[in-house]
Amino acid sequence: MNAAGPAVPSGPRILLRRLREVMAGPGTAQERMDQLVAAIAANMVAEVCSIYLLRDGALELFATEGLKRSAVHETTLRIGEGLVGQIAQLARPVALSEARSHPNFAARPETGEEDYHSLMGVPVLRGGRVVGVLVLQNRTNRNYSDDEVEVMQTIAMVLAEMVGGALQEEIPGAGVLATDGLPRRLSGLSLNEGLARGIAVLHEPRIVVEKHVADDIDVEAARLNTAVAELRIQIDGMLQAVIAEPTGEPRDILETYRMFAHDKGWMARMHDVVQSGLTAEAAVERVQVENRTRMSEIGDAYLRERLHDLEDLSNRLMRHLTYSGGQIDDVLPDQAVVVAWNMGPAELLDYDVTRVKALVLQEGSPTSHVAIVARALQIPVIGRLDHLLDLVESGDDLVVDGDNGLLFVRPGADALDAFSANLELRQAKAAQYAALRDQPAISRDGTRIQLNLNAGLLADLPHLDETGADGIGLYRTELHFMVRATLPTVSVQTEFYKRVLDQVRDRPVVFRTLDVGGDKMLPYLTRYDDEKNPAMGWRAIRLSLDRPVLLRMQIRALLKAAAGRSLAIMFPMIAEVSEFKAARGLLELEVERQHRMGEAGPSSLRVGTMLEVPSLAWQLGALLPMVDFVSIGSNDLMQFLFASDRGNPRLANRYDELSPAALSIVRDIVRRCDAAGVPVSLCGEAAGRPIDAMALIGLGLRSISMGAASIGPVKMMVRSLDLPALQAFMENYYDSPEHSLREALTKFAEDHGIII
Ligand code: PEP
Ligand code: MG
Repeated sequence: MNAAGPAVPSGPRILLRRLREVMAGPGTAQERMDQLVAAIAANMVAEVCSIYLLRDGALELFATEGLKRSAVHETTLRIGEGLVGQIAQLARPVALSEARSHPNFAARPETGEEDYHSLMGVPVLRGGRVVGVLVLQNRTNRNYSDDEVEVMQTIAMVLAEMVGGALQEEIPGAGVLATDGLPRRLSGLSLNEGLARGIAVLHEPRIVVEKHVADDIDVEAARLNTAVAELRIQIDGMLQAVIAEPTGEPRDILETYRMFAHDKGWMARMHDVVQSGLTAEAAVERVQVENRTRMSEIGDAYLRERLHDLEDLSNRLMRHLTYSGGQIDDVLPDQAVVVAWNMGPAELLDYDVTRVKALVLQEGSPTSHVAIVARALQIPVIGRLDHLLDLVESGDDLVVDGDNGLLFVRPGADALDAFSANLELRQAKAAQYAALRDQPAISRDGTRIQLNLNAGLLADLPHLDETGADGIGLYRTELHFMVRATLPTVSVQTEFYKRVLDQVRDRPVVFRTLDVGGDKMLPYLTRYDDEKNPAMGWRAIRLSLDRPVLLRMQIRALLKAAAGRSLAIMFPMIAEVSEFKAARGLLELEVERQHRMGEAGPSSLRVGTMLEVPSLAWQLGALLPMVDFVSIGSNDLMQFLFASDRGNPRLANRYDELSPAALSIVRDIVRRCDAAGVPVSLCGEAAGRPIDAMALIGLGLRSISMGAASIGPVKMMVRSLDLPALQAFMENYYDSPEHSLREALTKFAEDHGIII
C-alpha cells in the first residue's frame, strides 16, 4: 500500500450488494452492524471502520472494526466534540490524511485509536437530519479521494435505512434526535421585521427514504425518468396558471425552474447514482446532499440562491417518487409559520400567503430573494437559526419576533405574555398609522415633507395605497432582472414597466436603471470573477456603460411604457460628471430613436442621478445644471465615506449615519441642490428610521424615500415635529467632535414631544 492511497475500492455496486445481504441476513441488528463495519473496512481497505449513532443527545460508538470492542456503547462524543462531533454538527464529510494534528481532534484512549493517522467520516442522514457518523481510519497518512468519500456517503445512506428500522426496535432511542418538548429560545438573524405566532408547518415534511439499494437498476432508471417527466409537467402547469393570471415575478421565477428541470448535468448526476446501485429516491437524496455541501461552500450570494432553487426541485421530484402521483400539497392552517432549511422565492409564492404569518429558516441571508419577496408581502422572516430543523416539530407552537431575530419554540408563559403585550402595542400603533394614512406629512410649523416608497417588486405597489405614500422615490429595476433565467426582452420589460405605471396611476415614480454587479449578478451576464471588492467593482453604471446595449434596451422599454405619461429615470453609482453625461447620451439616442420611429413618447421626462459615491459631492457645480433631480443613496454613500462594508455585521455599529461627518456631507449636498433649484431626496435605509429621518429633515431634506413599513412611523414623527427648533438645535452640532449625535438627537426628540 502506498501513502498516497490504497487500491481503488471495488465497485460500489458489489459493496452495496454485500451490504444488502448483511442487512437482510439473520442475527440481531447489533450483529448485523458488526458485520457491516467488517465488510466496509475490508472493501474500503481501511484498518478501522466505526459507526457512531446518536443516543440521548450524544454520539455513541455502536460498532467498530479495528478499534477496541470494549469501547462499544462506552465511548461517547458530544455533537461538535472532536472530528466525529464536527461531522455531525456540520453534516458534512471530513477527510484528513493527518487527523491527529487537526485542532478538533479529540483522542479517546479507551478505543486504542492512537495508532491511526488518517480519518475520513461522513454523516449518516435520515430525512435530512444527522443521526450518526460513519468513520474510516488508516494507520498510514492516507489521502482519501473524492470518489472514496462519495462511496462512503452512499454506504451511510444504506446504513440510515437500518437505523430507522430494525435497530430502533432493538435498541430504543438509537439514532434518534428527539426534540425534548421543552420551550426553546433560538436566536438568528432578522431578515424581515414583524411579530407573529402560529403553528409550525415544516416546509418539506421529512421524506425518509425507506429503500436505498436497488433490486433492479433498469426499473429505478425508468422510475426516475417518469418522475422527472411528471415534474416537468407540474412546472409547466404552474407556469400556465401564472400566465393565465399574470402577477409578474412568479412567472419569471418559474421559468428559471423550468430551465433547471431540464438541466442535463443534474439529470446525468442522478442517473449516475442510480447506475451505482441505488434506488431513484436514494439517488435524488444523494445528489441533493451533494448540492447542499456545495451550497454551503459557495460565497456568491446569487449562485447560492440558484442552488436553493435546485433544492426545491429535488424536493418536488422526491414527492413525485414517494407519493405515487397523489395530491402533493397539504392544506395550510390559518396561522402558519413555515419552517424550512432554506427556500426559494417560488416556494414561498406557492403557499397561500394570506395564511403564512412568518417564515423561519435554518439558513438564509438578507440579500436572498425569498427575503426580498417576504418583505414585499410583509411576512416576518428570521434566518440563520442553528439547529432549527432538529428542534422544531410539525405542529409546534411558535412565536416569531422578527424585529429581534428571536424564535420561541413551544413558548412558555413568560414568552407568551411578552408576545401578547408586544402584539397589543404593535396593533395599537398600526391602528394609529392607519388613521394617519390620508393625513399629509406636515410638521407642527407647517412644513410639508414628501414621504415616498422604495419598491422593486410588483408586490410592493399595493403599499402605495395602504400607506398613503406620495409616490415611489426609488424603483429598483434590477430585482425584475434577478428573478429571471434570461435577459428580459424589450417587450417583456415594456409590459412590466407599464404595469408599474398603471398601478401607481398619477403618483410619481422614479425608475433607477440596472444596479447589478457586485453581489447582484445576473446569470446571463458575463461574470467578472476575480473581484476582491465587489461593492467597489464592476457594477451599476460602470457595467451599463461597458454594456450599452443593456442600458439602451432598458431605456427603450421605459420610454415605450411611459407613452403619454410622465417618466423619471435615474442612474446608480455615478462617480463623476462624465459618467452621467455618457449615460444621458445613451438616453438621448433612445429618445431620438423613438422620434424617428414615430412612436409616442412620455409626456414629460426627468433625468436624475443617485448620489452615492462621495466624489460626486465635489462636482455639484458641474453636475447640477445637467440634472433634473438628485437622490442621495445613503447606504452606499456612507459605505464609501467611511470605507466600511455595509454588509459586514462586525462593522454595523462602527460608524453612524448620525455622526457629524455624515450629517455634514448630506447637509452640504442638500444646500447646493437647493441653491441651484434642483430637487433633492434621500432613499437609503436611514430615511425609514424615525430618529434618522428627523435629523435628515432637520438638515434640510424635504423629500425622503423608504420601505413601506416605515411610512407610518416616520409620518407620525413629522407631524409631531417643530422644525425651526430642531434646525436651531442641530446648528450647534455639525462641528462636534462626537462619534455620533444620536443620543443628543434622541434627547431632543424626547424633550420636545417628537414621536420617534
Ligand atoms: C443606497 O445605496 O442608498 C441605495 C438606495 O441603493 P441600494 O441600497 O439599492 O444600493
Ligand atoms: Mg446604492
